[in-house]
Amino acid sequence: MGTLQLQRHNYRSAGPASRRILLHVPTTSLFELDRVSDELLELFEGQDAISADEVRVRFDGRYAPGEVCDALDDLLALGVVAPARKSYEIAPRKVSDAPISTLVLTLTTGCNLGCSYCYRDDLASPKAAVVMAHETATRAIDLLFRQAEKLPRVGIVFFGGEPLTRFAELRELTLYAERQAGTRGKKVDFSLTTNATLLSDEMIDFFRDHDFGVAVSIDGDEAEHDRRRITLGGKGSYRIVAAKVKRLLASPLARPVAARVTLSRGGSDVARIYRHLHDELGFAEVGFAPVTDDPKSPISLDADDMRRIVDGMKALGRDYVQDAKRGRHHGFSNMNHMMLDLWRGTRKTLPCGAGLGLLAAGTDGSLSLCHRFTGTGVGVFGDVNNGIAQERLGEFITAAQRVNAACSECPARGICAGGCYHEAYVRSGDPLTPTFGHCDFVREWLAFGLDCFGDISAANPEFFTAKNMEQRNQR
Ligand code: SF4
Ligand code: SF4
Repeated sequence: MGTLQLQRHNYRSAGPASRRILLHVPTTSLFELDRVSDELLELFEGQDAISADEVRVRFDGRYAPGEVCDALDDLLALGVVAPARKSYEIAPRKVSDAPISTLVLTLTTGCNLGCSYCYRDDLASPKAAVVMAHETATRAIDLLFRQAEKLPRVGIVFFGGEPLTRFAELRELTLYAERQAGTRGKKVDFSLTTNATLLSDEMIDFFRDHDFGVAVSIDGDEAEHDRRRITLGGKGSYRIVAAKVKRLLASPLARPVAARVTLSRGGSDVARIYRHLHDELGFAEVGFAPVTDDPKSPISLDADDMRRIVDGMKALGRDYVQDAKRGRHHGFSNMNHMMLDLWRGTRKTLPCGAGLGLLAAGTDGSLSLCHRFTGTGVGVFGDVNNGIAQERLGEFITAAQRVNAACSECPARGICAGGCYHEAYVRSGDPLTPTFGHCDFVREWLAFGLDCFGDISAANPEFFTAKNMEQRNQR
């Protein structure tokens, strides 16, 4: 066979001795490693190149020769070992028609809070806000239904500013979309992210009656939350948010209510934040989003913050594993997403759904890649009057799939795919240039997730049944 070399960029192995798993990076598929395959990998990992004689010396008498050959063939077929360095890339798929199934409606640029990390350059007080006209919004909804004529369901996300500053319009548009869906035999999934300060019992009843998915922006306990989430007058907003959240959670909605935590520089540890939001306030799910956009910003996380955050996320992840082994649900959303991605074998060639399945309508009706691009004038692909600029959008999506040389060697490329377009735009002015801001942490988080996946599947394989995972996906 000549000599064979390990292709480290094409795999990661993980899990306890009783259940070793291999992540095939190019396809993000998981394979269970039998003993002979695991030992073969161990042999290759210790040396640069391995000959047939070395394999024979290591395995002779302990396994049947055919068993060793089969295991070696499998590793060769996957490109985990090869006679010479082998890159295993999948050609970008040309996208000429990118229908959308989810539309974000920017109802207003106005917000009644003035959070110090808000990314919106056009944020205004509710009085000075630019709002989306009713006709613009209904045209956007009509466009969504025309686009998605072959799909059984579509999604509408109400966004701002703070969308509840325009609740009357939100209600009208919900009813309008339901009527349109009814005539077309479709279902609409509504959702919104809110700062919760304006929530009323009437709104809560409305969200329950119309199956809304609600996420609340809240950053932890009073001290943590009030560092950044302040009123326009500069006061902390925690007390009002916590009071409203208690009312919201007292009468459950059809879908579990999630807390969305923004992690900015100098914040406290994620396990403590999780305990407050999940155990004390009662959120079903808690997800964490680090602020990494602009390294020059005083609120953007630096390497020390990231170290602390990743350590905290791993501590919380270990709690998740303990619960999963006992068949209990844990509300740490980031881990739930990681387990779902690994279970499904999600192979991302694009970092997110922006532009492919999802577009965001700005207040003027222009169609942007996602909510973060509305109002920037960048990443605009048509408008609600003239429709989606399909050709340009297709070119963008095709170009976005071209793997950057640095990413092509990265074991996390199947779950990261170069990272957020908006972060790239903020850092470099180009949505398509990966920023490589925190790649080591992305890879560390993936390696941790793989270990957790192996641990859980060894102790409680039932955790990964299709039924259980689909239930997690509904959350
Ligand atoms: S951006 Fe970094 S972490 Fe993401 S795929 Fe590229 S090299 Fe890997
Ligand atoms: S481009 Fe960035 S902010 Fe927009 S949807 Fe994708 S990951 Fe999220």
